[in-house]
Amino acid sequence: TSEEAAAKAAAATADTGGPTIFDKIIAKEIPSSIVYEDEKVLAFRDINPQAPVHVLVIPKVRDGLTGIDKAEPRHFEILGQLLYAAKLVAEKEGLAKGFRIVINNGPEGCQSVYHLHLHVLGGRQMAWPAG
Ligand code: 5GP
Repeated sequence: TSEEAAAKAAAATADTGGPTIFDKIIAKEIPSSIVYEDEKVLAFRDINPQAPVHVLVIPKVRDGLTGIDKAEPRHFEILGQLLYAAKLVAEKEGLAKGFRIVINNGPEGCQSVYHLHLHVLGGRQMAWPAG
């Protein structure tokens, strides 16, 4: 609901550029269910899944990418790698009937973790428009 979205936005941490929980996931200091990993990218299951398949795809090195709004030409390669990894995740998870890739940005976009991440959602019929 829009109420939930507003609550989530209010609870969202600001884009301080500081460390996030994903640093600990990358360092494997806190456990996560890893779905895909390569030199540059890590994909793991969301702790609070919004669909039967809900995987987060993140760059292992943030390099200023707290959100997609901070993208610069130097990020072109990693941005492509993230999208390609999202496709690999969808394939691996058997989402042949379809899936959705989402990037939340900033408070109105309901971003809560300021380390760029793609959500890969699938395994059920999606609705449009997104809430
Ligand atoms: P955002 O709201 O910023 O687009 O997405 C952040 C996502 O990270 C949320 O869907 C949230 O459930 C997920 N998340 C937050 N903390 C953790 C964690 O410690 N482990 C995992 N696996 N997911 C997390």
